Amino acid sequence: MNKTIFERIIDREIPSSIVYEDDAFIAIKDIAPKAPVHLLVIPKRLSTRLDEIEDVQDMGQLFLTATKVARQHLGDYRLVVNVGKGGGQEVFHTHVHILGGWADGAALHDIV
Ligand code: AMP
Repeated sequence: MNKTIFERIIDREIPSSIVYEDDAFIAIKDIAPKAPVHLLVIPKRLSTRLDEIEDVQDMGQLFLTATKVARQHLGDYRLVVNVGKGGGQEVFHTHVHILGGWADGAALHDIV
């Protein structure tokens, strides 16, 4: 089976800007940032989308890692998970977006 682009990043087959790594996760800078700070937290164990993860430990660890990485870079931030094509997902390897660094977070209130 073809590797996802994120598996190729994890396996160092293509370059990326890695900001965090442990046994189970990698966090990288998004290649096309939609915020002043835009990071992706990616589980090394492949699932195609968030709702495929059934293990409470795996789900909890993903969000614990996302908040830990976020706090290493930002005070306030937004976490986004696009789930499925209709939810805006383009890379079918589960990941959490960390977005932040806006001068005025209040401007975001009309999105969610
Ligand atoms: P999503 O729409 O939730 O699947 O988000 C996929 C994200 O991956 C997008 O924000 C892309 O900019 C980002 N992306 C795609 N390829 C790369 C890459 N090689 N390195 C870093 N980020 C990437």
